[in-house]
Amino acid sequence: MTTYRAARGTRDLLPGETAAWTRLERLVDDLADRYGYRRIVTPMFEQVAVFERGVGEVTDIVEKELFRIAPRTDEGESWALRPEPTAGIVRAYVQHGMQTWPQPVKLAMTGPMFRYDRPQAGRYRQFWQFDVEAIGDPGPAIDAEIIELGHRVYADAGLTGVEVLLNSIGDLACRPPYVAELTDYYRARSGELPVLERDRLERNVLRLLDSKDPAMAAVNAKAPRITDRLCAACAEHFAGVRAHLDAIRVPYRLEPGLVRGLDYYTRTAFEFYVAGREGQQQALGGGGRYDGLVELLGGRPTPGIGFGVGLDRLLLALQEQDAPAAHGAEAGPTAVVVGADPDDTVARLRIATDLRSAGIAARAELGRRKLGKQLESAARDRAHFAVIVGDELGAGDVQLRDLPAGTQKVVALADLAREVSRAHAAHRHGVEKG
Ligand code: AMP
Repeated sequence: MTTYRAARGTRDLLPGETAAWTRLERLVDDLADRYGYRRIVTPMFEQVAVFERGVGEVTDIVEKELFRIAPRTDEGESWALRPEPTAGIVRAYVQHGMQTWPQPVKLAMTGPMFRYDRPQAGRYRQFWQFDVEAIGDPGPAIDAEIIELGHRVYADAGLTGVEVLLNSIGDLACRPPYVAELTDYYRARSGELPVLERDRLERNVLRLLDSKDPAMAAVNAKAPRITDRLCAACAEHFAGVRAHLDAIRVPYRLEPGLVRGLDYYTRTAFEFYVAGREGQQQALGGGGRYDGLVELLGGRPTPGIGFGVGLDRLLLALQEQDAPAAHGAEAGPTAVVVGADPDDTVARLRIATDLRSAGIAARAELGRRKLGKQLESAARDRAHFAVIVGDELGAGDVQLRDLPAGTQKVVALADLAREVSRAHAAHRHGVEKG
């Protein structure tokens, strides 16, 4: 027999794990609401050109990791699963004329991303990101708002020691001369460069700066720094970002080697790490400003900034710190409907359905086990009540047993939902106070 397994680099999130996951999704949803970022949902695949233009052809994400789709029919287009959300969101901004909406347009999205990378700890082929974008505001205040929002995601999730690494990578005025200077610098030392980095030197020299190859540390330490070569406008913008971050007391560390992998970034670039774990696989999230991207995808020149938080890595980091949020408990049913007559599944299902209609989390025992076994399974579910259907049903009554309290009383079916809700609310109140 063939045994089937989830594809390499993908995972099943089983019911025991999804409680913590759902809690994180709710947390980021609530934050997006609180900060006024409105939900957008874009397709999981786009034309390859959206990513080639919007992410950059000479990036690992497009060159090596793009998950291309091979459709059975040839419609003359080629598609790929989205490796990141920004290009698709900006494509939607242009397509739907969002430049005519009040600016900035603040958008949020949570969903799976796909990269055909070599799987390892914290690096999957399908992973989830919470992403926000503010399109149409040149900053610098909005840059600080976005960075603070990212920082808060980790704090509210209960992760400690998260650091913001911050840099400015200039714009079209000051970056080209800097890139030329950097290329000359590395060319003069090409003998010291590992083969991979020598190859990158001619194609995307900025990537050498955040190389994790130990052989690069010494060369990189003396490399010219973009922050010393920003044009006046970029320097002023960068100072503005820092002043706003200081004002809202977000701590950050300047990191001149932080360039991020994507071609479209301009000015502000940032990443989030647990302090002391700044390896390549350890970035918890990151983002930056992309003032050229809307135009690149066919819109009017429009500034924008955003970030993505990797939810898989956030959960892994919470587990490493053994934070309470890593162990989300599943909510069990409030009531389990059991019966003395194992064959009367009709009565049990009907009563559970009525409870659910009244908004109560209820489960009926639909198997034909003996009453004792049914009660055991209600206790195992940590239900608050067992509704016991017995002889009283003829008179329109059932027994309501409070499982933790060990008390039991007769309740009219007509009053059951009200009684369960009242007693459950009182119990929860008591538990919370105690
Ligand atoms: P990036 O666009 O590469 O900066 O990714 C943003 C965030 O998504 C990263 O900081 C990670 O938290 C997460 N991420 C990126 N790639 C992967 C992956 N292959 N597996 C899991 N998480 C990832």
